[in-house]
Amino acid sequence: MRTQVVIIGGGPSGLLLSQLLLKAGVETIVLERKTREYVLARIRAGILEQGMVNLLREADVADRLDREGFVHDGTLIASDNDTFRIDFAKSVGVPVVVYGQTEVTRDLYNAREATGGETVFEADDVCLHDVKSDAPYVTFRKDGRDQRIDCDYIAGCDGFHGVSRETIPKDVRQEFEKVYPFGWLGVLSETPPVDDELIYANSERGFALCSMRNANLSRYYVQCPLTDRVEDWSDDAFWEELKRRIPEKAADTLITGPTIEKSIAPLRSFVTEPMQWGRLFLCGDAAHIVPPTGAKGLNTAASDVHYLYHALKDHYLDNSDKGIETYSTRALARVWKAERFSWWMTNLLHRFPEQSGFDRRMQQADLAFLRDNEAAQQAMAENYVGLPY
Ligand SMILES: Cc1cc2nc3c(=O)[nH]c(=O)nc-3n(C[C@H](O)[C@H](O)[C@H](O)COP(=O)(O)OP(=O)(O)OC[C@H]3O[C@@H](n4cnc5c(N)ncnc54)[C@H](O)[C@@H]3O)c2cc1C
Repeated sequence: MRTQVVIIGGGPSGLLLSQLLLKAGVETIVLERKTREYVLARIRAGILEQGMVNLLREADVADRLDREGFVHDGTLIASDNDTFRIDFAKSVGVPVVVYGQTEVTRDLYNAREATGGETVFEADDVCLHDVKSDAPYVTFRKDGRDQRIDCDYIAGCDGFHGVSRETIPKDVRQEFEKVYPFGWLGVLSETPPVDDELIYANSERGFALCSMRNANLSRYYVQCPLTDRVEDWSDDAFWEELKRRIPEKAADTLITGPTIEKSIAPLRSFVTEPMQWGRLFLCGDAAHIVPPTGAKGLNTAASDVHYLYHALKDHYLDNSDKGIETYSTRALARVWKAERFSWWMTNLLHRFPEQSGFDRRMQQADLAFLRDNEAAQQAMAENYVGLPY
């Protein structure tokens, strides 16, 4: 087979890139290790920055998002029992949109199928070859048969555990990592959200987040030790712990019910540099991970897609390679700002096992400054709704 761009990974990064390129007339083949059903069953992000919404509109996959997504003009922050609001509309005039990653992915798959874009599911043993040459190619196995695709470029959109990043030699790659000493226990429940907006809570017992996917689907999280296992947490134990960590008013009105998904995610900050090597470009979680505090994972994947899409479009349509040559630098400049924001929010809102009295006072002072200072609120709002591309 031959195509212009092989995209490894059929998650949100790979699918969005493929739809944008298809619209621009650039040929792609997407190789996904799992089945479509498996990818769609993964419950992950749910808050979209305006930049990502615009990109989905540009890819012609935002009809349902525009109809069903919830526009949020602010978010609530609770410190023990003191709650204040960051008003995005007042501070920066831009909202975020609540729409699940599962739905984004479903819309992208539907659009890809409707437009005849080629996706190979259950592609095993994907391997990248001659990436530093002018004639790279990708091999994989499908239904027991070895296959090969020759191409001009390869987009590594295969997430944190993919093969693309590992293709870049160790002496070229620099990796930066911070692993946090706790995880998030998350549940999904078919109950109405406790509030119209998200509540980020820093409590004596640890962090909690009240989030949502739609009017009858809530997503709640509590910080937990890394040694906890999902089986240790009954639904009742989860709801009781959540109630103890969120403001009283919210705890009193919280509607509980059976959970339909429960998982524990470790928290990690990670960046690899550079994000390009020869004809391979890394995109999304393949290149970087953030802790979910601040909802930057999916959105930062989208900003990489923006830079890569324009770089490839300029190459094929305008004969310009400037975007290709500067992809890594431009993407990383924004990635590091998202990393900083996620790290800052994580430090602001969690209880750390080794936290001293001084550290706790610093956290409280940081929270009080944010509550009382409009410039601090504006800085937070600018980062939360997404820095410009
Ligand atoms: C448990 C969890 C909860 C999260 N919650 C949030 C949140 O609340 N807010 C937020 O903003 N972000 C969240 N994130 C992060 C967000 O989901 C990711 O940033 C986003 O999925 C990145 O998209 P991606 O396409 O780059 O990577 P992925 O979604 O990981 O997609 C990569 C795809 O590549 C495929 N693949 C992997 N290896 C290969 C291979 N060798 N060959 C072919 N295909 C391969 C995978 O099957 C997958 O479909 C969460 C992540 C996790 C894991």
